[in-house]
Amino acid sequence: MAGFALNSGKRHATARIKDMENKSLLDWHSMFMGVALLAAARSKDARKRNGACIASADYKILGVGYNGLPRGCDDDDPAYWADDDDDPLHSRHSYIVHAEVNAILNCVVLPLTDGTIYATQFPCPRCVQSIIQVGIKRVVYLEQKPHQVASIAAANKMLQDAGIAVHSLAELESESPTWSAKLERFIRDSRQPGATESPPGDI
Ligand SMILES: [Zn+2]
Repeated sequence: MAGFALNSGKRHATARIKDMENKSLLDWHSMFMGVALLAAARSKDARKRNGACIASADYKILGVGYNGLPRGCDDDDPAYWADDDDDPLHSRHSYIVHAEVNAILNCVVLPLTDGTIYATQFPCPRCVQSIIQVGIKRVVYLEQKPHQVASIAAANKMLQDAGIAVHSLAELESESPTWSAKLERFIRDSRQPGATESPPGDI
């Protein structure tokens, strides 16, 4: 009887293994954007936490970055986070290094010829300049901010002229908006319970 029970258990286990599919749960695009989303959680910018991840044509991670102040600049100095766009000394735009540029600067090898940059937000024109100059050939972004239409158009103008492919992650993987929103919420809720979504940031 004991032998029968053992064999029966073995048969069930074999059936379970047959039902399992030995395949990845994430494609490459989603994995790299997932890394960008995790990097975004490192940002101290409560207005908007962005992340970026650069991958080579043969799927190696070359660099990761998030938006923040340059090294040595004191995060507690309010001048760095001020919002007076008419006064460069008191405007965050003078100080914050965007995620895409930080990812380029953090790369372990240069040049980044034929690489892809995965960015949680559509890159601004300044970051696009660096993306083009460093040899990146493809941009994959998670979201575009509706209030940034003009700057997105300027960025797109340069990207098109430079022959750089641009895709939303949703274009490449249709289920991506669901899992990426869940990952973002999971990170936020586990680190800052009760925090609401960031307001539209103009970083
Ligand atoms: Zn930028």
